[in-house]
Amino acid sequence: LFATGGEFLKGVVAMDGMPPADRIEVCFAGRSNVGKSTLINALTGRKALARASNTPGRTQEINFFTLAGSHYLVDLPGYGFANAPVAVVAKWQALLKAYLAGRPSLRRAFVLIDARHGVKEVDEQIMSLLDASAVTFQTVLTKADKVKDADRDAALDQTRRALARHPAAYPELIVTSSEKGWGIPTLRATI
Ligand code: GDP
Repeated sequence: LFATGGEFLKGVVAMDGMPPADRIEVCFAGRSNVGKSTLINALTGRKALARASNTPGRTQEINFFTLAGSHYLVDLPGYGFANAPVAVVAKWQALLKAYLAGRPSLRRAFVLIDARHGVKEVDEQIMSLLDASAVTFQTVLTKADKVKDADRDAALDQTRRALARHPAAYPELIVTSSEKGWGIPTLRATI
């Protein structure tokens, strides 16, 4: 699936721009700066597949990538900007809701959590939306190279406690570092 890298297909700003739901699809969600672009690039083995700089005012696009012509990997816009304009947040939430409810081919969401910070209120909101949309999600800890073992274990405990509150949560966590390549084979195999 990952042997040929990934191909950027399109950025979508409304439901009518979505490609046909004709293949297996997984999506990636996370707070801005969680390391989502870097992780997607590490997964696909490409340097600049997902744009690694997100700015708060930027158009909130849902980016579709194809994997081996058989799967879609979907990069959802980062959330949780401190000073995001209300209108931008509202538009993003509406598109996200429509996307999660409207993609029968969506098999799983991956929710990225920074290993240094654990699950925050905005992450809980996304998890609740995934519950309500009946989209199974799996949590991926990012930047594990940046924390001491004890701090990472604390983040894991905190995350597990949060997941227990979410019926759509898949219990198994994947710990990753894009920098070190940790967990990347596991995440690929999971997809
Ligand atoms: P995004 O906003 O979620 O797409 O986050 P980015 O992928 O742009 O990453 C945000 C920052 O974290 C960048 O400076 C990355 O170089 C850094 N970063 C991402 N992943 C890792 C990682 O696994 N380890 C370390 N040490 N830094 C990372």
